[in-house]
Amino acid sequence: MKQGYEKVWSECLAVIRDNVSPNAFSTWFGPIRPVRLNDNILTLQVPSQFFYEWLEEHYIDLLKKTIKKELGPDGRLEYSIVMDNTPSASQPKPYTVHAPTLNKQALKNPPVSIPVDLSRDVKGGGSLPNPFVIPGLKKLNIHPQLIESYNFDNFIQGDCNRLARSAGLAVGQNPGKTSFNPLLVYSGNGLGKTHLVNAIGIEVKNNFPEKTVLYVTAEQFTNQFIDSIRNNNQNDFVHFYQLIDVLIVDDIHCLAGKPKTQDVFFHLFNQLHQTRKQIIITSDTPPVEMSGIEPRLLSRFKWGLSADLQVPDFETRIAILQKKIHNDGVEMPLEVLELISAKIKTSVREMEGALISILAQSSMNKKEITLKLAASVIDKFVKHTPKEITIDYIQQTVCDHLDISLDQLKSKSRKRETVQARQLAMYFSKQYTNSSLSTIGSKCGNRDHATVLHACKAIRNLVDTDKKFKQFVNELDNLIKIM
Ligand code: ADP
Ligand code: MG
Repeated sequence: MKQGYEKVWSECLAVIRDNVSPNAFSTWFGPIRPVRLNDNILTLQVPSQFFYEWLEEHYIDLLKKTIKKELGPDGRLEYSIVMDNTPSASQPKPYTVHAPTLNKQALKNPPVSIPVDLSRDVKGGGSLPNPFVIPGLKKLNIHPQLIESYNFDNFIQGDCNRLARSAGLAVGQNPGKTSFNPLLVYSGNGLGKTHLVNAIGIEVKNNFPEKTVLYVTAEQFTNQFIDSIRNNNQNDFVHFYQLIDVLIVDDIHCLAGKPKTQDVFFHLFNQLHQTRKQIIITSDTPPVEMSGIEPRLLSRFKWGLSADLQVPDFETRIAILQKKIHNDGVEMPLEVLELISAKIKTSVREMEGALISILAQSSMNKKEITLKLAASVIDKFVKHTPKEITIDYIQQTVCDHLDISLDQLKSKSRKRETVQARQLAMYFSKQYTNSSLSTIGSKCGNRDHATVLHACKAIRNLVDTDKKFKQFVNELDNLIKIM
């Protein structure tokens, strides 16, 4: 016969199953084990801290609602976390999550399933083989995941990228043997980081075909790691990465607020570095400005060379466009290229976008590419380019509006207005960015995900109950949107 807690949990599961996708159900609810029911507290065992955080972030309202339905208004939930698969696993760490209020909103939001698609972040479309195919994997079988067109031939040199490019070339010719290990390339969006690090990988492959090169985004790395936890094959994950001679991790800042992934990356970094394997990483800021990354990892990033890519000057922007149209086998009057370069200054990616739009307009409407056509396309393009709303931008807008400093917002201060500003920044960050609660928390002065969750609820409650506050939040909302 089933124990009481098992019965309760299986009834909860029946409700949950109706409210989440089958995929999410098996991923996030399959591994949960009920362990006891005492004083209306149902204890659930989850496989890891990460798992617990994920549940709390995405499914807590559903869980609370279900528990209350099964156990009545006093029903509560407690987690017992199995710490990895290490011997300490026998000492689960309990977390108690109270279920005092019911949030009906949560059920309206579709559940999020774990992102594991390796191909989606890689430019050029098409699905790439999952490099994480183990066990018994031969070194030769590892697909480098490099984008062929992102090579050195196509990477235009200019003052903006001289150091990064020549260091990259040196690494490509001597991986693991220069002092540029790790090589960290940083810049703003669309300035060529992904292109340059791919070019290095291709250069290595050309010079040393036997070397194992792998390009991954930090996001893919994280997802593979999560997968390995889920499938209980973390060792395979680590062994796989130990086979790599040249490891390229793009957008390392995406590890912010993910301490477990950082931890595993830290150990991998050390191992690869000690065995003189080459590590290449990119980031949107220099190491000193990276937030949410553990100091020990940051200090490793500073071991080698950090080189930035700056906004290319006018001539370099034209040269980049010329190379691009030449590669595509199309022609375009120089004055049009000049117009694009003059109008779009901050991102090579946007410049290329405008170029493609102009080509598309001309071929669809069978019109010649004239300055006039280009001007109208660029005009629309510049206006319609949706700008990305970032956590930094939100924090700045909130601070400006409330007249407090950014330092204050990120400080430990418990002053009412500071706390409220911080909570507003967290609330809007959750709303407008895809960042996880932990990332948002770490960017708001190293808070944890629970604090962010609490902040979002506090703001929602105030909006629901206080008209004046609601109006204030709307104003701020508009300010953020019109950026
Ligand atoms: P990031 O990774 O920094 O966001 P990308 O590497 O994706 O930027 O570059 C955006 C686009 O701009 C790509 O299509 C890339 O080929 C192009 N690009 C950037 N810098 C250069 C350059 N110096 N020469 C040629 N193309 C470039
Ligand atoms: Mg990139």
